[in-house]
Parts: sequence; C-alpha cells; structure tokens
Amino acid sequence: PVDRLAEIQEARLKLPVLAEEHVIMEAVRENPCVVLCGETGSGKTTQVPQFLYEAGYASGSGIIGVTEPRRVAAVSMSHRVATEMNLPTGVVSYQIRYEGNVTDGTKIKFMTDGVLLKEIQKDFLLQRYSVVIIDEAHERSVYTDILIGLLSRIVPLRNKRAMPMKLVIMSATLRVEDFTQNQRLFPAPPPVVKVDARQFPVTVHFNKRTAMEDYTGEAFRKTCKIHRMLPSGGILVFLTGQAEVHSLCRRLRRAFPYKPNRECTGEPNTHTHTPGIPSKCPALPRIDLDNYSALPVEEGDEGDDEEEEDGDEVSDLDLGDNPDDYDEKSDPSIPLYVLPLYSLLAPEQQAKVFRPAPAGTRLCVVATNVAETSLTIPGVRYVVDCGRVKKRFYDRVTGVSSFKVTWTSQASANQRAGRAGRTEPGHCYRLYSSAVFSDFSLFSEAEITRRPVDDLVLQMKDLNIQKVVNFPFPTPPSSEALAAAEQLLVSLGALEEPPREGRVIDLKRARLSCPITPLGRAMAAFPVSPRYAKMLALGQQQDCMPYVIAVVAAMTVREIFDDLDRPVAKDEDGEKVGQRRARLAQNKRLWAGQGQSLLLGDLMVMLGAVGACEFAGCTPKFCEENGLRYKAMLEIRRLRGQLTNAVNAVCPDVGVFVDGKMPPPTPTQVQCLRQVVLSGLGDHLARRVQSEELLDPKWRNGYKTPLLDEPVFIHPSSALFKTLPEFVVYQEVTETTKMYMRGVCAVEADWIP
Ligand code: ADP
Ligand code: MG
Repeated sequence: PVDRLAEIQEARLKLPVLAEEHVIMEAVRENPCVVLCGETGSGKTTQVPQFLYEAGYASGSGIIGVTEPRRVAAVSMSHRVATEMNLPTGVVSYQIRYEGNVTDGTKIKFMTDGVLLKEIQKDFLLQRYSVVIIDEAHERSVYTDILIGLLSRIVPLRNKRAMPMKLVIMSATLRVEDFTQNQRLFPAPPPVVKVDARQFPVTVHFNKRTAMEDYTGEAFRKTCKIHRMLPSGGILVFLTGQAEVHSLCRRLRRAFPYKPNRECTGEPNTHTHTPGIPSKCPALPRIDLDNYSALPVEEGDEGDDEEEEDGDEVSDLDLGDNPDDYDEKSDPSIPLYVLPLYSLLAPEQQAKVFRPAPAGTRLCVVATNVAETSLTIPGVRYVVDCGRVKKRFYDRVTGVSSFKVTWTSQASANQRAGRAGRTEPGHCYRLYSSAVFSDFSLFSEAEITRRPVDDLVLQMKDLNIQKVVNFPFPTPPSSEALAAAEQLLVSLGALEEPPREGRVIDLKRARLSCPITPLGRAMAAFPVSPRYAKMLALGQQQDCMPYVIAVVAAMTVREIFDDLDRPVAKDEDGEKVGQRRARLAQNKRLWAGQGQSLLLGDLMVMLGAVGACEFAGCTPKFCEENGLRYKAMLEIRRLRGQLTNAVNAVCPDVGVFVDGKMPPPTPTQVQCLRQVVLSGLGDHLARRVQSEELLDPKWRNGYKTPLLDEPVFIHPSSALFKTLPEFVVYQEVTETTKMYMRGVCAVEADWIP
C-alpha cells in the first residue's frame, strides 16, 4: 500500500494515464511484452512504475527497472516518483554512469540505458528484475535499440525457466512499427496500448523569413514580443546547446530583470609553461603487444548523448560584448522569471522548472532538446522553436564524433509545439518558414543507421553475441557498416582472425562471426572507439599511461588549435590575429621538441599543448593568447578525468591519476607512445615515395597508402613537414588543395607487423 499525500493524489488523478491503469495492467499481466504510447506529459514515466509497484511486481525478490536515454531524466524522475510515493530514495533510486543511490532495499530503479546494457554483460538473464520498462523508445537511441533486441530474447528465456519477466516499451509517439511489425524481433507482435492525452489546440505561427545564422537573436526578439504583448502563460524556448541557452537567459534577464544580477569574473591565472625538451637517447625498448590487463569492469560507458555537448563555462566568453545584447531596453516593470534547462544542469536547478514562478512574474524556460519529450514543464502556453537540434556526427575515417547543429524533423517540431497545449490552448512560434518546415525529414532516423558501428560490434561481442548480423535490431545497420566494423576489430586484435580454410568460402560471412579476444574484452571497457581503446589497453607499459590518456583525449577532441583559416571577425583587429597565429606557430615548434619527441609529430604537439594549458590552469586567457580553442581544452580535461577513472577500473594496479603538472615524457616513453599509437592506427600507415619510384612529379614528397591511389601529403602546419619520415601513421586524411594527412606520427619500419 502506498501512502500518498492528498495533493499528490489529486494531481495524479488529472493525468490521462491514470484512466488507463486497468487496461495497462491487464495487458502486462496477459503478455510478456507490451508497448505503451502516450503524449509527453500524459504520465507514463511517473505513473507506470507505480502501477507495477502497487500490482506487486516489486514485492518478491525482483525489482522494477526503468531505463532512460538521458541521465537528466533518470535522476529527476526517480526523485519525482519517490516524492509521489512518499518513499525514501533508498527505495526509489537511480543509477547513472558513475553515480547513484541504489541500496539493497531498492524497489524501483531508474537508470540510463547504458547502465542496464552493462548489467546484461554481468547477468544475461537480468535476474534482479521482475519487469523492465524501456522509456522514451521513440528517441531510438543506439543503446535503447540494442536493449530492446536483447530483451526480446531475454524475456522468453526467463519465462521458459519459470522466472517470469515483463517488458514494457514506452513511446511518446505512435510510430512504433519498428518494434511491433518486426517479425525477427517479436514473432508475435506485442499489443499496443494507447493513452489519449487531453491536448488543447496549439496555433502554429511560421516566420515569413527563416532566421538563418542568428536564430538565437531571433528567439530573443520573439520572446520579448510575447512577453510584452501577450496574456499570461509560461514561455518555453527551444535552442540547441548549453552555451546558447545561457547566453539567451542572460539577455532576457537583462531585458526584464526579476532580481539584481551579480556577475563576477575570477582573476585568470597567467602562468605559462612549456614542457622541456628531452634530449636524445639511443637504445630504446619495444612495447609488448601482449601486455595488457583484462579485468572485468564495474561500471563503464553509456550513451553519452547530447549531455557531453559543450562546457558550461564556455558561455562566459561571450559575456556582454555583443552589441545585440543591448537591443532591448531593460524594463524592470514586467519581470520575467528566466530558467535554463539542459542535461548537465544540476538536479536542484532542474527542479526549479516544476515549481510555480514567483508572484507577479512570468515563467520563461530556455531549454535544449530535453524539454521535447523527457521532461514536462507545467503551465507552458507559448513555445518558441528555433527548428534546430544539435546532433552527434561521426567521422568515417577516425570514428571520432563531433556535434553539429542541423534542422530537426517534422515529428520533433510537432512534439515541441505540443508542449504549449498541456493546460490550455497555446501558441507555437517557429523561427522558420512553412517552406523550410516542409523540407524537414518526417522523422528523425534511428541513430544506429547514422554512425560507424565498430564500438557496438565490440560491445555485442563482449556480450558473446557471435553473429552480429543475426541480431534482432529494431532497425539494422547496413551490412557494409557491420562488415567494415568487424574487419577493423580483427585488425586491431579485438576479434579472432577468421579460420583460413582450404578454399575461400564466404569471407564476409566468416568475418561476421569472429569471436572476441581477451584484448577485445579489455578494449570493450573503455568509453572511446576501439582504435583509441586499443591504445589505452596497451598504455600501462613504461609508465606511459598518463601520456596515452592525454594523447587519446587530445586526438578524440577535434580542432584543438585555433588556426585553420578561421575568418577574422569584423570586430577583431587583423594585426592581433596575425600575431596570435605567429605565436601559435612558434608554440607548435616548441611543443614538438626535438629528437625522439619530434618523431611523435603532431601528437607531441597536442601533448605539449595539453601540458602547457593544464600547467597554466586551463584559462580562457591562456588559450586565447596561445592559439588554443578553450572549449576543446575543457573537453580534453573532462575526457582525461573520465578515461583515468575507466583505466583504474580495468587495471587498479596501475593507479593512474590526472596530473595537472605532468612532466614531459622521457625519450623512452615517447618511443613507447609511438608504438602504442601505431597499434591503434596500424591500417592508417603511409610510406614516403622513394626517389626511384618518382615517375610523376605530382608524387614529390608524397606518401603512398594502401587505401588510396593518389599520393597523400604532410601538411605545412604539421610538426613533421620538414622531417618527412619514411613511415608515418595518421589519424585522418582531408582533401583541400591536396590530400593532407592530419595527426601524423612517425613510426619505424621494424615495428610494422
Ligand atoms: P510522460 O512520461 O508521459 O511524458 P510524466 O510522467 O513525465 O509524463 O509527467 C506527468 C506529469 O507529472 C507532468 O504533467 C509533469 O509536469 C509532472 N511532473 C513530472 N515531474 C515533476 C516534478 N519533478 N515536479 C512536479 N511535477 C512533475
Ligand atoms: Mg516520460
């Protein structure tokens, strides 16, 4: 029996999902798997776990598990459900990557989808759970898709062994055919229960002209207009990232101050430091390619979706220097209560959006995508939609990801509009034209079809899923993507070579069922793509681990130098920019060093930059003066911390820590690093064209690679431009005036397998 407060009980009864409790629970009783569709805000996430609890699904030894694609939802929903049920957080708990409040007495556990995936690695039958709810399935996150595939097999297995288990898939849209009409996934289609939400009409207003570059400025002007001219009701603004959210919050607070705003800027640390240059050292050891640790992990990677987007602190860079900030005169007579909302925001800050705005003010929430379906903000009557979303894109060559802002889909634009009609009729202002809207794709694609899958294939092999092609994906990745992934993993030593038989059968087939190696298991524990995981797995030799971590972090963050043909902003002093570039070129020479360290090439430059920047306290000023991108340096810092934790979890005896004052590597360590880098980039090998091979002048100073017919070159900005070593490995090739290698490191002929 649950003892709820009267006011909570009253609020619950207004939720559409309450009217369907009976239907939902009967469907769950009668079927192993049920799909539940209901508008955002209808009460799925907060109420369905309570229905299951009250029906006794957590009264035996099993508990109720709920997965969320976003950490923010896992944390805030567990708090909300604990409050509603009047139970302590030791009973209604959450677990996200490195943090949680789960106890032995936990009955309802909210977690990210990645956390449950890791639990399946330890106990394939998920015996702790009597029911698993997959929430926000419409988001089609990679881990959610894989979980649904795995659970479609786990649930029947549990039932066969007389340890029955239930699966509930919840979606905010009716587009669930990928789950229900997929014979391979569910031979008998699971029943779909629909919850009709009371949705008030929302009038959609398109802009005549689409706001192109300055959509945040347009969002600002639109919000000001709404606040000045339209009747009461909360405003919800959709932007794409933290920095944008904070910048708009500041402008709105300045325009309609609710409280005097105190802003302070700390005194930046102005120390500079350059790592010394180690001298040459002749006899250097070789690393042992079989020396790695393969202990099981406790807690690993998870879908780090848009949460990893951009550093909060970064927004302080644009503090008030923009003349646009003053385009609205400050008007304290109509205060606006402005709140930011995004994934990384602290839970107590997030909780503010659920509380009523102070008397005499209007609520205005400036949010990223989290407000689209994960969280429902009460009292919203106006939505301002920029029409964009920040998405992760993957580099086909490196597998390294980056965030880009693109148009959203029609389905999500309509979800956003729907946020305005929860409590009364509302309005949605789209900062783009109806013509642009009609060009949006209808739905967002499942994430799994948009990215390389070598990391997923490795995770699945780590789950002992041999034939990944046969896995019941809700939407399968292309067979080319799967084959490419498997091939790369074989070459990295993460999967066993397919057996060579007398006659060649079907190579593609054979490759697609290669079993995982112990090295592959070690690699599977690191939250970076397999190439870089391999470097980490081999990194503890010669006390190299801190350097391998720093280099991997720097290599997986893009554009750490602020030099590449960046257009000079109109308010910038051309002379100053020239000086800064000269300074960077000088720094790069310094960071590259000489002798052994120079042979580490561009990676030594990265290592030197990270070392110098950390030594100076990683301040915006230091970065600005030394040609480094502050945002990138912050990201590297975060990643170093995360990778250090992961390494310690896999091999506790290494005991590595993040050293802000890391000394430069010794020549022995540099050589070890070069071999470690080669171990991950072995298929990105290039050989300088020999003079006797020089038939065509276009090959002068060029390099041959196994993949390309054309020569590739070392860029003039590379540390190895003048050295032109015989063998190099590179991170990627980009084509500008020529095909240039980026991230170049020299290797020795006798290291090449
Ligand atoms: P769904 O999962 O169907 O989108 P939810 O269960 O998340 O719906 O939300 C149901 C209702 O509970 C919403 O109207 C929302 O405003 C309210 N709610 C959710 N979390 C909180 C909270 N922390 N404080 C107050 N109200 C909340
Ligand atoms: Mg929900």
